[in-house]
Amino acid sequence: MDLMYRSTRNAKNQVTASQAVLKGLAEDGGLFVPERIPGLELSLGALADMSYQETAYAVMKQFLTDYTERELKDCIRSAYDEKFDTPEIAPLREADGAYYLELFHGATIAFKDMALSILPYLMTTAAKKNREDKEIVILTATSGDTGKAALAGFADVPGTRIIVFYPKNGVSAVQERQMVTQKGANTCVIGIHGNFDDAQTGVKKLFGDVALGKVLADAGYRFSSANSINIGRLVPQIVYYVYAYGRLLKAGKIRLGDSINVVVPTGNFGNILAAYYAKCMGLPIGRLICASNENKVLYDFFRTGVYDRNRDFILTSSPSMDILISSNLERLIYRMAGDDAKENARLMEELSSKGSYEISDSMKAVMKDFTGGFATMEEVAVEIARLYKETGYVIDTHTAVASRVYRAYKEQSGDVTPAVIASTASPYKFARSVMEAIDPKYAGMDDFALIDELSRISGTKVPQAIEEIRSAAVLHDKVIEKTQMEAAVREFLGIH
Ligand SMILES: *Cc1c(COP(=O)(O)O)cnc(C)c1O
Repeated sequence: MDLMYRSTRNAKNQVTASQAVLKGLAEDGGLFVPERIPGLELSLGALADMSYQETAYAVMKQFLTDYTERELKDCIRSAYDEKFDTPEIAPLREADGAYYLELFHGATIAFKDMALSILPYLMTTAAKKNREDKEIVILTATSGDTGKAALAGFADVPGTRIIVFYPKNGVSAVQERQMVTQKGANTCVIGIHGNFDDAQTGVKKLFGDVALGKVLADAGYRFSSANSINIGRLVPQIVYYVYAYGRLLKAGKIRLGDSINVVVPTGNFGNILAAYYAKCMGLPIGRLICASNENKVLYDFFRTGVYDRNRDFILTSSPSMDILISSNLERLIYRMAGDDAKENARLMEELSSKGSYEISDSMKAVMKDFTGGFATMEEVAVEIARLYKETGYVIDTHTAVASRVYRAYKEQSGDVTPAVIASTASPYKFARSVMEAIDPKYAGMDDFALIDELSRISGTKVPQAIEEIRSAAVLHDKVIEKTQMEAAVREFLGIH
């Protein structure tokens, strides 16, 4: 029997895994969730000797049950190959008593590659299985990293087109350059005057526009999503937590059955939700530590049970976490409500009309697995400098949010459970903030000089993804108002 997926806003809306991957978002605006979280069907001890690809198959086959073994293994093999600069795919690096799970060894040097390397394969396979005859148009809102990772994954993939919207003044210099130099006739990159929430809300609106959907279908297109609202983005992320457990076992850092804590720098709540699903599958995870920057809606939520987006949007040195509406939290809310789609839909309606909601006391039980924390820009800079000076290890600004929150948590709680910190981006991607944190004397240097200096002080090679953009031509220079998103989509697709 296949594991089915249901919309978080209407239990009657039920689809297979491959259909959920194709659709991205449910028609009712809800997110697809598995009807139950499957267990890990292997002994934990076996993980110690499994490769990343083997672990990926063991986890993903439990969720994506209507893909055949052959299909899934083909997807995994095509995704996790030499695009990654290490055969380990996600190496675990120990520094100052914590384990940094480096998720940035893929093509665009951010953790989004972990899922977006495989999503195009999962999606084109799903299209074949479901005899989809329309061209798939991937609509994406990005806070900086999803955009490039999705572009790299979908560029020149037959039967697909991809449109990326990013906040014009809300991403790092390297992030923007990576996107606007993207090649591929099926790609389109557009800056908007607005922030990430504006981009994400605009994209969700286009998805929900029934009339536009009809026009699109008549022209031979259908929308899908590469954002973490797509279950095909979420499931591949469960893998690396399971893999990290195997690596810790193998290295003798934990014994079979020992618990680990997981610390995740969080924005849209996709990555940490994947860690929660890993825990629900039976992986011995103790605390899930949700680390925010100054846009600390989630910290406040875990403390009070009130989610309130009515506050100023702050541009920080960790731009990929500058988010006030964490889409994937809806999947947790649904679970907290006992898989009650009606109750979830009611809370989401409150969020969209009032900008806030409060969960009931009985729902708070699920929250006990989570601890929220946040770090200011100042604290992030201090953490980067401290870790570098004490250990020589350089981390990026997002990872530093998690690292700092973890140190504070450990000090306050006395909890010495081994901790895996999700290291979500290469420091090269945020070279300016990282280098200025290490030494203010770097303030005047240009971006590429900083990159060379980072390579020198860290003793690491400049990644290929950075070398590529040094001299690449700008191919996308369109910037629009947030009200013009539909017009831009129509123009790119040639529909009027
Ligand atoms: C996207 C991103 C995050 C936030 O991840 P979510 O899954 O959206 O919570 C954190 N760090 C970096 C570098 C990112 O690109």
